[in-house]
Amino acid sequence: MKVLKFGGTSVGSVENLQKVKNILISDDEQKIVVCSAMSGVTDQLVRLVENIRFGDTEAITRNLHRLETKHCDVIDQLIEDKELRSELKDSISFLITEMFELTSQKYSEAINSKVITYGETLLTFIFSKFLNSIGVNNVLLDAKDFMFVDSVENPNIDKVSKKLHKVLEAEIKSQIYITQGFVCKDENGEINHLKRGGSDYTATIIGAALQANEVQIWTDIDGLHNNDPRYVEETHPISHLTYNEAAELAYFGAKILHPQTVSPVVDKDIPVLLKNTFDPQAAGTIISNRTYKKGLKAISAKDDITAIKIKSNRMLMAHGYLRRIFEVFDNFHTSIDMITTSEIAISLTIDDTSNLDEIVKEIENYAEVTIEQNHSIICIVGESVINDRNSYKLFEVLNYIPVRMISYGGSNNNISILVDTKDKIPTLRFLNEKLFNTHHEALV
Ligand code: ASP
Ligand code: MG
Repeated sequence: MKVLKFGGTSVGSVENLQKVKNILISDDEQKIVVCSAMSGVTDQLVRLVENIRFGDTEAITRNLHRLETKHCDVIDQLIEDKELRSELKDSISFLITEMFELTSQKYSEAINSKVITYGETLLTFIFSKFLNSIGVNNVLLDAKDFMFVDSVENPNIDKVSKKLHKVLEAEIKSQIYITQGFVCKDENGEINHLKRGGSDYTATIIGAALQANEVQIWTDIDGLHNNDPRYVEETHPISHLTYNEAAELAYFGAKILHPQTVSPVVDKDIPVLLKNTFDPQAAGTIISNRTYKKGLKAISAKDDITAIKIKSNRMLMAHGYLRRIFEVFDNFHTSIDMITTSEIAISLTIDDTSNLDEIVKEIENYAEVTIEQNHSIICIVGESVINDRNSYKLFEVLNYIPVRMISYGGSNNNISILVDTKDKIPTLRFLNEKLFNTHHEALV
């Protein structure tokens, strides 16, 4: 059994859905297929939730109409049989009516979760029916019947496993099962979600729950690249990454992968393959426990970082000072990414600023606080990267770019620097040139 996940672009048009179908029938191993919503649909649903929040009934109607038309157009183009076509369009209308009923309720987190997860429901319904209509037999599973995720950070895989086995036993046996990414049931049994981009995570949770041979994540790029291809020319896909490397890259900005994706499969040693729907022959990236090559592998960047400098003479020679500061962040459920210290000051970074005002107020009781927004963490990743003989070259960046913080040696696998976001692209390009475009062999 393997798990295949297809992202928004892969399921974003009729043409692409045909490509997905070809991938599914290219071998006859048993598969669970996890699908995202069509590209743009979840964003549209987020806007719909805003419409609900502001009671904008006109916009709600317009939004729902657009959603219905988009999915009915796909049915029109995919389904040959006229009767089936109109039957499916009726089912879509039914789902849209269900959503409309939700929109008349008062805004709440629960309504938000219900609404924004509809994109996956609409798409998987159509795709499953389409496959059956052309003789690719499959069974559609409702993820809400088995994705019981009490804690998004630490899902109980055994619980999902038991539920999913039960669902599979009750269903007709099939070579292909289709299900929705992103959606889950929370500790109260209510509909919830795995955060934006969470379908990747759905796939690895299912992979771990079923002890799959592998999990394949199909996107619109041929694997994880050594630098951000949106900003840097001449990037290349990385053929092998360890779970640690992939987790660091995903956390520090590599958009291709949801940051928590690999965590469910690490202990079970299930490989994760990143593949390109538009070039299925391309090797992509294999993420596993094996280290094929040590040293520098990739660079990524994470935006919207806030740097906080905390300065106090009382820190001089005082013990327990850092604990007091960390406690404040802990009390406000705010995690810290980077830290550097001097004898009288500490600088740290956060990306969630929702409680920043309270945090600052608290710390200002005993220290001077300076805030700098719009920064980016540039992260240089690879097993034992700090021992890579070429890593020193990255410090040449100091000659050209004002670097706000550097974190070296926190782990062997990551060197991070903090720059103003306006310097992000030049930094990425400079590092690419220095670290990858010169003759470079990792020597660890
Ligand atoms: N459709 C959801 C999103 O856009 C989940 C996903 O695509 O992974 O965030
Ligand atoms: Mg994604």
